[in-house]
Amino acid sequence: VGQAADTETDIHLGICGLTKRFGHFTALHEIDLTIREGEFVCFLGPSGCGKTTLLRAIAGLSPQSSGSIVQRGQDISHLPPQARDFGIVFQSYALFPNLTVFDNIAYGLRNQRDDRQAMRKRVDELLALVDLTGSESKYPAALSGGQQQRVALARALATEPALLLLDEPLSALDARVRVHLRGQIKALQARLGVTTIMVTHDQEEALTMADRIVVMNHGVIEQVGTPAEIYRQPASAFVAEFIGSMNFLTVFPEDGDVLRLGSHLLDCPRHDVAGCERARLAIRPEAVELCDAEQGLRARVEHVEFLGAFQRISLTLEECGQTLVADINAREADVLMPGQTLGVRLPPQALRLFADPGA
Ligand code: ATP
Repeated sequence: VGQAADTETDIHLGICGLTKRFGHFTALHEIDLTIREGEFVCFLGPSGCGKTTLLRAIAGLSPQSSGSIVQRGQDISHLPPQARDFGIVFQSYALFPNLTVFDNIAYGLRNQRDDRQAMRKRVDELLALVDLTGSESKYPAALSGGQQQRVALARALATEPALLLLDEPLSALDARVRVHLRGQIKALQARLGVTTIMVTHDQEEALTMADRIVVMNHGVIEQVGTPAEIYRQPASAFVAEFIGSMNFLTVFPEDGDVLRLGSHLLDCPRHDVAGCERARLAIRPEAVELCDAEQGLRARVEHVEFLGAFQRISLTLEECGQTLVADINAREADVLMPGQTLGVRLPPQALRLFADPGA
Protein backbone atom coordinates (compact mmCIF):
# COMPACT_ATOMS: atom_id res chain seq x y z
CA VAL A 1 0.00 0.00 0.00
CA GLY A 2 2.86 2.32 -0.90
CA GLN A 3 2.14 5.87 -1.92
CA ALA A 4 2.50 7.06 -5.49
CA ALA A 5 5.55 9.09 -4.48
CA ASP A 6 7.50 5.96 -3.52
CA THR A 7 10.41 5.18 -5.75
CA GLU A 8 11.81 1.67 -6.03
CA THR A 9 14.70 2.55 -3.73
CA ASP A 10 12.33 3.74 -0.99
CA ILE A 11 10.77 0.33 -0.80
CA HIS A 12 12.32 -2.21 1.52
CA LEU A 13 9.82 -5.01 1.31
CA GLY A 14 7.08 -5.77 -1.19
CA ILE A 15 4.57 -8.48 -0.35
CA CYS A 16 2.25 -9.47 -3.14
CA GLY A 17 -0.73 -11.83 -3.08
CA LEU A 18 0.67 -13.74 -0.12
CA THR A 19 -1.52 -16.64 0.98
CA LYS A 20 -0.73 -19.12 3.74
CA ARG A 21 -2.71 -22.29 4.28
CA PHE A 22 -2.42 -24.83 7.08
CA GLY A 23 -4.21 -27.84 5.62
CA HIS A 24 -7.70 -26.64 4.76
CA PHE A 25 -7.40 -23.55 6.95
CA THR A 26 -6.33 -20.31 5.25
CA ALA A 27 -4.43 -18.19 7.79
CA LEU A 28 -3.51 -15.39 5.32
CA HIS A 29 -5.60 -14.40 2.30
CA GLU A 30 -3.73 -12.70 -0.58
CA ILE A 31 -1.87 -10.13 1.50
CA ASP A 32 -0.49 -7.10 -0.39
CA LEU A 33 1.79 -4.80 1.58
CA THR A 34 4.68 -2.44 0.92
CA ILE A 35 7.12 -1.45 3.65
CA ARG A 36 9.43 1.49 3.13
CA GLU A 37 13.13 1.77 4.00
CA GLY A 38 13.67 2.71 7.63
CA GLU A 39 10.03 2.37 8.59
CA PHE A 40 8.81 1.01 11.92
CA VAL A 41 5.70 -1.02 11.09
CA CYS A 42 3.49 -2.83 13.57
CA PHE A 43 1.26 -5.78 12.69
CA LEU A 44 -1.67 -5.36 15.08
CA GLY A 45 -4.73 -7.50 15.53
CA PRO A 46 -6.56 -9.91 17.81
CA SER A 47 -5.28 -13.38 18.65
CA GLY A 48 -5.33 -15.68 15.63
CA CYS A 49 -5.58 -12.91 12.98
CA GLY A 50 -2.39 -14.11 11.27
CA LYS A 51 0.16 -11.50 12.31
CA THR A 52 2.77 -14.00 13.53
CA THR A 53 2.20 -16.15 10.45
CA LEU A 54 2.93 -13.13 8.24
CA LEU A 55 6.10 -12.32 10.17
CA ARG A 56 7.25 -15.93 9.95
CA ALA A 57 6.61 -15.96 6.19
CA ILE A 58 8.79 -12.85 5.82
CA ALA A 59 11.53 -14.64 7.78
CA GLY A 60 11.15 -17.82 5.72
CA LEU A 61 10.39 -19.79 8.92
CA SER A 62 6.95 -20.78 7.65
CA PRO A 63 6.94 -20.35 3.87
CA GLN A 64 3.88 -18.97 2.10
CA SER A 65 1.58 -21.25 0.08
CA SER A 66 1.50 -18.73 -2.76
CA GLY A 67 2.44 -15.14 -3.47
CA SER A 68 5.79 -13.39 -3.34
CA ILE A 69 8.08 -11.42 -1.05
CA VAL A 70 10.62 -9.03 -2.54
CA GLN A 71 13.32 -7.43 -0.37
CA ARG A 72 15.29 -4.51 -1.87
CA GLY A 73 14.40 -5.68 -5.36
CA GLN A 74 15.35 -9.33 -4.79
CA ASP A 75 12.69 -12.04 -4.81
CA ILE A 76 13.30 -13.88 -1.51
CA SER A 77 10.08 -15.92 -1.58
CA HIS A 78 11.89 -19.25 -1.83
CA LEU A 79 15.07 -18.54 0.13
CA PRO A 80 15.66 -20.44 3.39
CA PRO A 81 15.79 -18.25 6.53
CA GLN A 82 19.59 -18.35 6.74
CA ALA A 83 19.87 -16.85 3.24
CA ARG A 84 17.58 -13.93 4.13
CA ASP A 85 18.78 -10.64 5.57
CA PHE A 86 17.01 -10.13 8.92
CA GLY A 87 17.48 -10.29 12.69
CA ILE A 88 14.68 -11.58 14.88
CA VAL A 89 13.61 -11.26 18.52
CA PHE A 90 10.96 -13.56 19.97
CA GLN A 91 8.59 -13.11 22.88
CA SER A 92 10.42 -15.68 24.98
CA TYR A 93 13.94 -14.32 24.98
CA ALA A 94 15.35 -17.50 23.44
CA LEU A 95 18.80 -16.92 24.91
CA PHE A 96 21.16 -19.85 25.48
CA PRO A 97 21.05 -20.36 29.27
CA ASN A 98 24.48 -21.99 29.37
CA LEU A 99 26.20 -19.14 27.50
CA THR A 100 27.24 -15.77 28.93
CA VAL A 101 25.78 -12.52 27.64
CA PHE A 102 28.96 -12.08 25.60
CA ASP A 103 28.65 -15.49 23.96
CA ASN A 104 24.93 -15.09 23.38
CA ILE A 105 25.54 -11.89 21.45
CA ALA A 106 28.63 -13.30 19.74
CA TYR A 107 26.52 -16.22 18.56
CA GLY A 108 25.04 -13.86 15.98
CA LEU A 109 28.59 -13.21 14.77
CA ARG A 110 29.74 -16.80 14.52
CA ASN A 111 30.87 -16.27 10.92
CA GLN A 112 33.39 -13.78 12.24
CA ARG A 113 34.79 -16.13 14.89
CA ASP A 114 38.21 -16.19 13.26
CA ASP A 115 38.77 -12.55 14.08
CA ARG A 116 38.45 -12.62 17.87
CA GLN A 117 39.47 -8.98 18.27
CA ALA A 118 36.93 -7.63 15.77
CA MET A 119 34.26 -9.75 17.41
CA ARG A 120 35.11 -8.42 20.89
CA LYS A 121 34.86 -4.86 19.57
CA ARG A 122 31.52 -5.50 17.94
CA VAL A 123 30.06 -7.16 21.04
CA ASP A 124 31.22 -4.19 23.13
CA GLU A 125 29.47 -1.83 20.71
CA LEU A 126 26.28 -3.88 20.88
CA LEU A 127 26.39 -4.02 24.68
CA ALA A 128 26.67 -0.23 24.76
CA LEU A 129 23.83 0.07 22.26
CA VAL A 130 21.42 -1.81 24.53
CA ASP A 131 22.80 -0.26 27.71
CA LEU A 132 24.33 -3.44 29.12
CA THR A 133 28.03 -2.58 29.24
CA GLY A 134 29.62 -4.52 32.08
CA SER A 135 27.17 -7.44 31.94
CA GLU A 136 29.08 -9.50 29.38
CA SER A 137 30.14 -12.29 31.73
CA LYS A 138 26.73 -12.76 33.35
CA TYR A 139 24.46 -15.68 32.52
CA PRO A 140 20.86 -15.08 31.35
CA ALA A 141 19.41 -16.41 34.64
CA ALA A 142 21.11 -13.54 36.46
CA LEU A 143 19.33 -10.94 34.30
CA SER A 144 15.84 -9.47 34.55
CA GLY A 145 13.33 -10.11 31.75
CA GLY A 146 13.90 -6.65 30.31
CA GLN A 147 17.68 -7.13 30.36
CA GLN A 148 17.37 -10.55 28.70
CA GLN A 149 15.24 -9.01 25.96
CA ARG A 150 17.90 -6.34 25.42
CA VAL A 151 20.51 -9.11 25.01
CA ALA A 152 18.19 -10.78 22.47
CA LEU A 153 17.93 -7.43 20.67
CA ALA A 154 21.71 -7.01 20.62
CA ARG A 155 22.08 -10.53 19.23
CA ALA A 156 19.50 -9.82 16.52
CA LEU A 157 21.34 -6.63 15.53
CA ALA A 158 24.83 -8.15 15.67
CA THR A 159 25.25 -8.71 11.93
CA GLU A 160 23.67 -5.35 11.05
CA PRO A 161 20.64 -6.92 9.35
CA ALA A 162 18.68 -4.81 6.87
CA LEU A 163 15.44 -5.84 8.53
CA LEU A 164 14.59 -6.31 12.21
CA LEU A 165 11.65 -8.59 13.04
CA LEU A 166 10.16 -8.39 16.52
CA ASP A 167 7.58 -11.00 17.51
CA GLU A 168 5.72 -9.65 20.58
CA PRO A 169 9.08 -8.79 22.19
CA LEU A 170 7.54 -6.98 25.16
CA SER A 171 4.54 -9.08 26.07
CA ALA A 172 6.32 -11.31 28.60
CA LEU A 173 7.53 -8.30 30.60
CA ASP A 174 5.77 -6.52 33.43
CA ALA A 175 4.02 -3.23 32.65
CA ARG A 176 6.68 -0.83 33.92
CA VAL A 177 9.57 -2.57 32.15
CA ARG A 178 7.46 -2.83 29.00
CA VAL A 179 6.87 0.90 28.79
CA HIS A 180 10.55 1.62 29.43
CA LEU A 181 11.79 -0.87 26.84
CA ARG A 182 9.22 0.39 24.35
CA GLY A 183 10.92 3.80 24.45
CA GLN A 184 14.40 2.24 24.25
CA ILE A 185 13.56 0.08 21.22
CA LYS A 186 11.91 2.99 19.44
CA ALA A 187 14.91 5.27 20.07
CA LEU A 188 17.36 2.56 19.00
CA GLN A 189 15.42 1.88 15.81
CA ALA A 190 15.31 5.57 14.95
CA ARG A 191 19.05 5.93 15.59
CA LEU A 192 20.01 2.90 13.49
CA GLY A 193 17.37 3.56 10.84
CA VAL A 194 16.82 -0.20 10.47
CA THR A 195 13.54 -1.18 8.84
CA THR A 196 11.55 -2.86 11.60
CA ILE A 197 8.40 -4.97 11.77
CA MET A 198 6.90 -5.68 15.17
CA VAL A 199 4.01 -8.04 15.87
CA THR A 200 1.80 -6.97 18.75
CA HIS A 201 -1.74 -7.37 20.03
CA ASP A 202 -1.29 -4.32 22.27
CA GLN A 203 -2.80 -1.28 20.59
CA GLU A 204 -1.03 1.17 22.90
CA GLU A 205 2.31 -0.37 21.91
CA ALA A 206 1.45 -0.03 18.21
CA LEU A 207 0.12 3.52 18.55
CA THR A 208 3.19 4.75 20.46
CA MET A 209 5.91 2.93 18.49
CA ALA A 210 4.85 2.54 14.86
CA ASP A 211 5.30 4.87 11.91
CA ARG A 212 2.53 2.84 10.30
CA ILE A 213 0.20 0.21 11.68
CA VAL A 214 -1.12 -2.75 9.70
CA VAL A 215 -4.42 -3.77 11.32
CA MET A 216 -5.24 -7.41 10.62
CA ASN A 217 -8.34 -9.50 11.17
CA HIS A 218 -9.09 -13.08 10.07
CA GLY A 219 -6.08 -13.28 7.77
CA VAL A 220 -6.71 -10.05 5.86
CA ILE A 221 -5.45 -6.48 6.22
CA GLU A 222 -8.25 -4.19 7.40
CA GLN A 223 -6.24 -0.96 7.18
CA VAL A 224 -2.70 0.38 6.84
CA GLY A 225 -2.04 3.85 8.17
CA THR A 226 -0.23 6.10 10.61
CA PRO A 227 -1.40 5.83 14.23
CA ALA A 228 -3.38 9.09 13.82
CA GLU A 229 -5.05 7.87 10.61
CA ILE A 230 -6.00 4.56 12.18
CA TYR A 231 -7.43 6.32 15.24
CA ARG A 232 -9.17 9.21 13.49
CA GLN A 233 -10.23 7.65 10.21
CA PRO A 234 -10.83 3.95 10.82
CA ALA A 235 -11.53 2.30 7.47
CA SER A 236 -13.90 -0.31 8.85
CA ALA A 237 -16.14 -0.92 11.84
CA PHE A 238 -13.64 -3.57 12.96
CA VAL A 239 -10.80 -1.03 13.13
CA ALA A 240 -13.08 1.54 14.79
CA GLU A 241 -13.99 -0.94 17.49
CA PHE A 242 -10.56 -2.53 17.92
CA ILE A 243 -8.60 0.70 18.47
CA GLY A 244 -9.50 2.88 21.45
CA SER A 245 -13.06 3.28 22.75
CA MET A 246 -15.91 3.85 20.35
CA ASN A 247 -19.66 4.42 20.60
CA PHE A 248 -21.85 2.80 17.96
CA LEU A 249 -25.40 3.99 17.32
CA THR A 250 -27.86 2.44 14.90
CA VAL A 251 -29.05 5.04 12.39
CA PHE A 252 -31.17 5.07 9.25
CA PRO A 253 -29.74 6.88 6.22
CA GLU A 254 -32.19 9.30 4.56
CA ASP A 255 -31.73 11.16 1.30
CA GLY A 256 -28.56 13.24 0.93
CA ASP A 257 -26.16 13.49 3.86
CA VAL A 258 -28.87 13.05 6.46
CA LEU A 259 -29.25 10.29 9.02
CA ARG A 260 -32.23 9.53 11.21
CA LEU A 261 -31.61 8.65 14.84
CA GLY A 262 -34.98 8.09 16.50
CA SER A 263 -36.99 10.99 15.11
CA HIS A 264 -33.94 13.24 15.12
CA LEU A 265 -32.17 14.12 11.87
CA LEU A 266 -28.38 14.37 11.88
CA ASP A 267 -26.01 15.79 9.30
CA CYS A 268 -23.23 13.38 8.42
CA PRO A 269 -20.72 14.10 5.66
CA ARG A 270 -18.83 11.22 3.92
CA HIS A 271 -22.11 9.47 3.55
CA ASP A 272 -20.96 6.28 1.88
CA VAL A 273 -23.57 3.77 2.95
CA ALA A 274 -26.00 4.68 0.19
CA GLY A 275 -28.40 1.85 -0.41
CA CYS A 276 -28.13 0.61 3.20
CA GLU A 277 -31.37 0.65 5.08
CA ARG A 278 -29.58 0.72 8.40
CA ALA A 279 -26.06 1.83 9.35
CA ARG A 280 -23.73 2.11 12.34
CA LEU A 281 -22.70 5.58 13.37
CA ALA A 282 -19.40 5.68 15.27
CA ILE A 283 -18.18 8.46 17.53
CA ARG A 284 -15.34 8.51 20.07
CA PRO A 285 -16.36 9.21 23.68
CA GLU A 286 -14.11 12.29 23.79
CA ALA A 287 -15.91 13.76 20.75
CA VAL A 288 -19.38 13.61 22.30
CA GLU A 289 -20.44 17.08 23.54
CA LEU A 290 -22.88 17.77 26.37
CA CYS A 291 -25.21 20.76 26.40
CA ASP A 292 -28.56 21.93 27.73
CA ALA A 293 -31.40 19.44 27.17
CA GLU A 294 -33.12 21.82 24.76
CA GLN A 295 -30.07 22.19 22.52
CA GLY A 296 -29.28 18.60 21.63
CA LEU A 297 -30.50 15.01 21.73
CA ARG A 298 -32.15 14.56 25.12
CA ALA A 299 -30.26 12.02 27.23
CA ARG A 300 -30.39 10.67 30.78
CA VAL A 301 -27.22 10.34 32.82
CA GLU A 302 -26.85 6.73 34.01
CA HIS A 303 -23.40 6.63 35.64
CA VAL A 304 -20.56 9.01 36.22
CA GLU A 305 -17.16 7.31 36.49
CA PHE A 306 -14.16 9.19 37.82
CA LEU A 307 -11.03 8.40 35.78
CA GLY A 308 -8.66 11.10 36.99
CA ALA A 309 -7.97 13.30 33.98
CA PHE A 310 -11.53 12.93 32.75
CA GLN A 311 -14.86 11.44 33.73
CA ARG A 312 -16.77 8.89 31.70
CA ILE A 313 -20.50 9.62 31.54
CA SER A 314 -22.83 6.78 30.52
CA LEU A 315 -25.95 8.11 28.85
CA THR A 316 -29.22 6.80 27.44
CA LEU A 317 -30.75 8.73 24.54
CA GLU A 318 -34.32 9.30 25.69
CA GLU A 319 -36.03 9.00 22.38
CA CYS A 320 -34.52 5.81 21.02
CA GLY A 321 -33.16 4.14 24.16
CA GLN A 322 -29.66 3.70 22.70
CA THR A 323 -26.71 4.18 25.01
CA LEU A 324 -23.41 5.95 24.60
CA VAL A 325 -20.55 7.22 26.73
CA ALA A 326 -19.02 10.67 26.79
CA ASP A 327 -15.56 11.47 28.20
CA ILE A 328 -15.77 14.90 29.73
CA ASN A 329 -13.03 16.85 31.47
CA ALA A 330 -13.31 16.47 35.20
CA ARG A 331 -14.31 20.05 36.08
CA GLU A 332 -17.18 20.12 33.61
CA ALA A 333 -18.45 16.76 34.83
CA ASP A 334 -18.37 17.56 38.55
CA VAL A 335 -21.94 18.90 38.48
CA LEU A 336 -23.42 15.82 36.75
CA MET A 337 -25.62 13.40 38.69
CA PRO A 338 -27.19 10.06 37.69
CA GLY A 339 -30.84 10.51 36.72
CA GLN A 340 -30.29 14.02 35.38
CA THR A 341 -31.42 14.93 31.85
CA LEU A 342 -29.19 16.88 29.50
CA GLY A 343 -28.49 17.37 25.79
CA VAL A 344 -25.97 15.49 23.65
CA ARG A 345 -24.38 16.90 20.50
CA LEU A 346 -22.62 14.71 17.94
CA PRO A 347 -20.34 17.01 15.91
CA PRO A 348 -20.57 16.04 12.20
CA GLN A 349 -16.79 16.12 11.69
CA ALA A 350 -16.33 13.49 14.44
CA LEU A 351 -18.76 10.99 12.96
CA ARG A 352 -17.87 7.87 10.99
CA LEU A 353 -20.48 5.79 9.29
CA PHE A 354 -20.33 2.07 8.51
CA ALA A 355 -22.72 -0.31 6.83
CA ASP A 356 -24.54 -2.50 9.33
CA PRO A 357 -23.72 -6.11 8.47
CA GLY A 358 -26.90 -7.23 10.20
CA ALA A 359 -29.09 -4.95 8.06
P1 ATP B 1 -1.50 -14.61 18.47
O1 ATP B 1 -1.44 -13.19 18.90
O2 ATP B 1 -2.45 -15.42 19.28
O3 ATP B 1 -0.17 -15.25 18.31
P2 ATP B 1 -1.61 -14.30 15.59
O4 ATP B 1 -2.38 -13.19 14.99
O5 ATP B 1 -0.15 -14.14 15.65
O6 ATP B 1 -2.20 -14.60 17.02
P3 ATP B 1 -1.08 -16.66 14.07
O7 ATP B 1 -0.18 -17.29 15.07
O8 ATP B 1 -0.47 -16.00 12.91
O9 ATP B 1 -2.02 -15.59 14.81
O10 ATP B 1 -2.16 -17.72 13.61
C1 ATP B 1 -3.14 -17.43 12.64
C2 ATP B 1 -4.04 -18.62 12.49
O11 ATP B 1 -3.34 -19.70 11.90
C3 ATP B 1 -4.59 -19.12 13.81
O12 ATP B 1 -5.93 -19.50 13.62
C4 ATP B 1 -3.75 -20.33 14.11
O13 ATP B 1 -4.48 -21.29 14.84
C5 ATP B 1 -3.38 -20.85 12.74
N1 ATP B 1 -2.05 -21.48 12.74
C6 ATP B 1 -0.88 -20.90 13.02
N2 ATP B 1 0.15 -21.77 12.92
C7 ATP B 1 -0.39 -22.97 12.58
C8 ATP B 1 0.14 -24.27 12.34
N3 ATP B 1 1.44 -24.52 12.39
N4 ATP B 1 -0.74 -25.24 12.02
C9 ATP B 1 -2.07 -25.01 11.93
N5 ATP B 1 -2.63 -23.80 12.15
C10 ATP B 1 -1.82 -22.79 12.47
